[in-house]
Amino acid sequence: MSFSLARFFLQFANSSKAANISSSNYGYFLSTPNTRKFTETPTTGAHKSTEELLVVVGGGAAGMFGAIRAKTVAPNLNVVVIEKGKPLSKVKISGGGRCNVTNGHCSDHRILAEHYPRGHRELRGSFFNTHGPVDTMSWFSDHGVALKIEDDGRVFPISNSSSSIIECLLSEAKHKGVSLQTGKVLENASVDAGGKFYLKVEKRTVVESVEADYLLIASGSSQQGYSLATQLGHSIVDPVPSLFTFKIERFRARRVVRVTFPKVEAKLKLDNVQRNIPHLTQVGPMLVTHWGLSGPVILRLSAWVLVNCLLQVTKECS
Ligand SMILES: Cc1cc2nc3c(=O)[nH]c(=O)nc-3n(C[C@H](O)[C@H](O)[C@H](O)COP(=O)(O)OP(=O)(O)OC[C@H]3O[C@@H](n4cnc5c(N)ncnc54)[C@H](O)[C@@H]3O)c2cc1C
Repeated sequence: MSFSLARFFLQFANSSKAANISSSNYGYFLSTPNTRKFTETPTTGAHKSTEELLVVVGGGAAGMFGAIRAKTVAPNLNVVVIEKGKPLSKVKISGGGRCNVTNGHCSDHRILAEHYPRGHRELRGSFFNTHGPVDTMSWFSDHGVALKIEDDGRVFPISNSSSSIIECLLSEAKHKGVSLQTGKVLENASVDAGGKFYLKVEKRTVVESVEADYLLIASGSSQQGYSLATQLGHSIVDPVPSLFTFKIERFRARRVVRVTFPKVEAKLKLDNVQRNIPHLTQVGPMLVTHWGLSGPVILRLSAWVLVNCLLQVTKECS
């Protein structure tokens, strides 16, 4: 079960470029191939359950979808999401408040994977084959969110509001019986030789001890999440920034701030990169802000920046 669950977790997490956890388990799923039956014994509660327990750390897109998926493939599994703040808060602001759900132009997984500067082999090899953009669109359509594909391939809810995505995920989680516990922080986790997880969960001054059979760390870019995964024996690939705007030192175009160019061609020249990478030239909308450049064309290019680069806006297109 762990493998089929685990493969679904990166779809939402990919834009943030959260650290990859290099282990034989794909994504953030930390589990052991244990077949014996476990019990859950929260120290604060008197009840015992003979069912297995999955604790999901983080109620973001990855955690909520992972929890729903877990309940879908294993309806008898107890699934608890521990979220320290508000669930899906990043989804709310995503895509300028509209939530760019996926890409609607790339049904060929090999081509799609080439657009990712890092991790494209893993995406192409197993992830997209198991859960690609078409699956994402079908999932939301099947769960009542009407979607549209814009000219540049970005997929949004027809409502143009990320709330449609949030409501869908929260209501599906509730419908499936996922327990969402907010205001709680996973502070510590350890695992015994039998594969059982021992968790310390804090809510203000109250500390709960929870024994779990499975643990899904979907804590986004939180350093604590990386530390917990390391503590449990996983190794972390250092994350690098992606999808950022360009701040320009001594910016001379301050007087033209907030000007939108609907279509420009922009090129990125990277130090020490001789080969011609087609993605280093992008065409699309660009926004001039008071600190530099933003907009889809700039964000797309930013993913390829590692250290030093030179950006040229070569032409305005008609
Ligand atoms: C401005 C902006 C716009 C974006 N637009 C888009 C877009 O249009 N389309 C797109 O696909 N992506 C977009 N992204 C990226 C996307 O929002 C993220 O990739 C995605 O939300 C990451 O989801 P996640 O579940 O991995 O992490 P997060 O959303 O960061 O969720 C992690 C959760 O874990 C919780 N947490 C962390 N540590 C603990 C702990 N120890 N205990 C309990 N809880 C914990 C946090 O409170 C958080 O809620 C955008 C991002 C930003 C910032």
